[in-house]
Amino acid sequence: MNCPLCNAQNEDIIFENTLFRIILVDEIPGYIRVITQKHIKEFSELNDNEAIELTLAIKKIEKTMLKFLNPDKINIASLGNMVPHLHIHIIPRYKNDPWWPNATFCEKLRNFQYPPFDKEKYKKEIKSCF
Ligand SMILES: [Zn+2]
Repeated sequence: MNCPLCNAQNEDIIFENTLFRIILVDEIPGYIRVITQKHIKEFSELNDNEAIELTLAIKKIEKTMLKFLNPDKINIASLGNMVPHLHIHIIPRYKNDPWWPNATFCEKLRNFQYPPFDKEKYKKEIKSCF
């Protein structure tokens, strides 16, 4: 199968188990992506226990993100139009970030200096939730 998420390389994996892996995405400071280990297209293809586990993982990540990065908002998105393998984007948002108030998948409106953060400490903090 020619799926970039099934054949992922060079991911910055923070944590993984049999259901999902959590990676840090460098495109935006603090940006996290949660990717299911199996190739499924839609959230409803998870069984109930898996859906609960994944949802709670997202909640933990969001909480850590709020505490650690202090963003104005967190965006959680599952699109998969381009890559139909279930993955959830968890994105810290700041008023005046390059896309605000639009989604980060839209065109950039401006430049923005992201607040500095300790990447390794952040990863450790997220990992400690699991
Ligand atoms: Zn896949």
